[in-house]
Amino acid sequence: MTALLFEHVSRLRTHLDGLRARSQSIGVVPTMGALHEGHLSLVRAAKDRCGVVVVTIFVNPTQFGPNEDFAKYPRNLERDLDLLARQDTDVVFAPAVSEMYPPSEQTRVRVTQVSEGLCGAHRPGHFEGVATIVAKLFNAVGPGVYFFGRKDYQQWRLVERMASDLLFPVVVVGCPIVREHDGLAMSSRNVYLSAEERAAAPRLGAALSAARALYRAGECDPALLLARARSIIQPEGSVGPELRIEYLELREAATLAPVTVDGAGRLTSGRSDLVLLVAAHLGTTRLIDNLEL
Ligand code: AMP
Repeated sequence: MTALLFEHVSRLRTHLDGLRARSQSIGVVPTMGALHEGHLSLVRAAKDRCGVVVVTIFVNPTQFGPNEDFAKYPRNLERDLDLLARQDTDVVFAPAVSEMYPPSEQTRVRVTQVSEGLCGAHRPGHFEGVATIVAKLFNAVGPGVYFFGRKDYQQWRLVERMASDLLFPVVVVGCPIVREHDGLAMSSRNVYLSAEERAAAPRLGAALSAARALYRAGECDPALLLARARSIIQPEGSVGPELRIEYLELREAATLAPVTVDGAGRLTSGRSDLVLLVAAHLGTTRLIDNLEL
């Protein structure tokens, strides 16, 4: 069934207030469109848990840097609506930029520690844009269960933090990463990859898995875990497109704080709650991935 499409906050609110009055629970999946199986897995998780599912589609200008891909980011609302209809999505909210950022707006939301380092260090202003648009969506769509992908691990942790700090009446759920058959994490940006780049891209996921295997075999020297991952991302003597690592870091999963080591360089952080995160450039495309160890 085709979803009801809203472009304005006021009409969306009126509709959802009516559903809440009938005791319907609301599940929300915020996206930037160009939907793939990763997004659809969030829609299914929302369907399983909530009576009504709202998918938001908005390419948020404030989270893109001046030299990033805002203008060329893939947009195809017709196709997205078709995919969502097949998942029985109830409501789609696809506002224009002017609806979310009217000309007079001047407010931004900044979350501190959790947005520092990793993507935050390499994409200045990115997480301020993310926090701002997610706060606006929380207010536009209202109370509900919000589903985010762990693909964007730092974003998910930041949204959890902000929802708690600002007392938003929402529940934030983090869902598992959906991967292609060869281990590449699904992303709307994968369409940018040439055939050769696409063939090299699964090295990121493979590197994280190899480091996790080493960790699970008892290795607790972060330098050796990272070296293992690096050797797969950038194999010696490899020909073809190069994956240029932007960051490759081991962090505490809940807070994203850097891990701690003892005098011998061995992990002193809890052994069950670490995450290995990577960002790399392949040609002109930036890819991110992560794995909880
Ligand atoms: P985006 O449209 O890229 O902003 O993503 C919208 C939501 O889908 C975010 O919560 C992402 O983390 C999530 N998502 C994107 N790709 C995947 C994936 N491969 N697996 C799981 N969730 C994903």
